[in-house]
Amino acid sequence: MRQRAARDQQRLDSGAVTSPKDLESLQREITSLAKRQGDLEDVVLEVMERRESAQERVTELSDRVSAVQAKADDATARRDAATKELDEQAATVTKEREVVAGSVPADLLKLYDKLRVQQGGVGAARLYQRRCEGCRLELNITEVNDVKAASPDTVLRCENCRRILVRTAESGL
Ligand SMILES: [Zn+2]
Repeated sequence: MRQRAARDQQRLDSGAVTSPKDLESLQREITSLAKRQGDLEDVVLEVMERRESAQERVTELSDRVSAVQAKADDATARRDAATKELDEQAATVTKEREVVAGSVPADLLKLYDKLRVQQGGVGAARLYQRRCEGCRLELNITEVNDVKAASPDTVLRCENCRRILVRTAESGL
């Protein structure tokens, strides 16, 4: 379009066109071409501005994606570390349990395992300050006297929750 306008202008300037009607028509075309060029330049400018703002938005969103990805990576790493630690602890506890279980008489172990299933994972409870730590109930005086009279080898049971009661120095007897 610019070339066409330049060519028109050249023809006008050259003096080759002499008819007033042709001259007027040529002049009109030059004016019209200049206006269209101006309009197109406005459109180009607007497109460039929109492209620029779209590019800024792309950059902003990319930054946010990177930040979220970094957080996700961090959380995954912490989860994996925690899982590894828990697995190690579970392995240690399992080994310790095997050692302890090996030293417990078979019939007592059988009773303990049965109670453990019945009592939500806790088959034996410490007797602490005359209280069963399995069900948190305090033993009455008769039960305390029975416990006191029992030999150290006797397997004691809580009258309330039926768990095996474990006597210690802090049982309050
Ligand atoms: Zn109990």
